[in-house]
Amino acid sequence: MIKIEQADRLKQLPPYLFAELDRKKAEAQDRGVDVIDLGVGDPDLPTPDNIIEALAAAAKEPRYHRYPSYTGMNNFREAVARWYKQRAGVDLHPLKEVVSLIGSKEGIAHIPLAFINPGDVALVPSPAYPVYAIATMFAGGTPHEMPLVKENNFLPDLTAIPAEVLDKAKMMFLNYPNNPTAAPATVEFFKTVVDFAVKHNIMVCHDFAYSEMTFEGYVPPSFLETPGAKDVGIEFHSLSKTYNMTGWRIGWAAGNAEIIGGLGRIKSNIDSGIFEAIQVAGIEALEGDQQCLTDMRTIYTERRDVLVGGLKKLGIKAEAPNATFYVWFEVPEGYTSASFAGLLLDKAGIMATPGNGFGAPGEGYVRMALTVSKERLAEAVERMAKIGF
Ligand SMILES: *Cc1c(COP(=O)(O)O)cnc(C)c1O
Repeated sequence: MIKIEQADRLKQLPPYLFAELDRKKAEAQDRGVDVIDLGVGDPDLPTPDNIIEALAAAAKEPRYHRYPSYTGMNNFREAVARWYKQRAGVDLHPLKEVVSLIGSKEGIAHIPLAFINPGDVALVPSPAYPVYAIATMFAGGTPHEMPLVKENNFLPDLTAIPAEVLDKAKMMFLNYPNNPTAAPATVEFFKTVVDFAVKHNIMVCHDFAYSEMTFEGYVPPSFLETPGAKDVGIEFHSLSKTYNMTGWRIGWAAGNAEIIGGLGRIKSNIDSGIFEAIQVAGIEALEGDQQCLTDMRTIYTERRDVLVGGLKKLGIKAEAPNATFYVWFEVPEGYTSASFAGLLLDKAGIMATPGNGFGAPGEGYVRMALTVSKERLAEAVERMAKIGF
């Protein structure tokens, strides 16, 4: 036997939030509970048929069976550039300013390796998707949390970042429409971010995963449409949420050529790109029939209204989001994030994510994902009405 000892970078990690939730769900199910899982943000709807058919046809072509290009098929990156032009009016050089990713999580996890040295700081929102801070730590950097609070519409207060932190800050992560708060960003906020980035020499990495998961015609701005954005940053995007393709692992980063180039160099030394048949299907997703988007929005709008309407009737201060499939709300008086999420699981068989799991400023909140049918959401509300809180 040898002594197996994990590296410090693993030892310092908190348990991955969603792995922990999966474990709790399995425990409840073992006790025979019919769990309504509103915990993890993974769409329950299937990938649209036209995309599956494109994969099936491409999978039969031997030319796609070989190692893919490291930075992504040219055709796929050209489709991404056309999407940006049409969606946000942004011009991108498909080969220099776009890199394909094995899901945006992969790119987010790798980007600090390209730019963060030990001692450097990355500014990360909190509460947030855990990957920004962890990826920074894996690169030897220090994450500095920017609290997202209701009083500031869940936008970071850039003026609150201490000067000595700014001296060391090299990168900033942002994510709008936001997970977990569902908050939108404004064009004005993005302008402030570009000015701030120029002034303090900070690269901006904006995560745009929920750009199309919107309600009532809301069109969230891309960071890249902000004047000067391409001089300071990049945007991560993914087919996961827009086309119910979380299992397929395909996304991209786009924007500043030097930042994209650095990420590409890291990737070419670690992975070997995305199965090209999946990239062919990705082109179909972006450029085929978009009826699936209308259908998805209709379904999530119905679910949102059932859940938010029901929570309000129970006296919970929930607001209907205009984007994302999350409902982020303050727990009732007398509860913490953990005690309320615990009550929901133990007494109502409902999995919700405690807000503090996304970072300390999320304390006092719970996140529910609209990833079950409206009938199940109605049942969740009924079960909550019975427990009383
Ligand atoms: C779901 C999600 C993603 C998408 O991840 P993929 O790796 O592209 O599946 C990225 N960022 C946030 C904040 C998310 O919630």
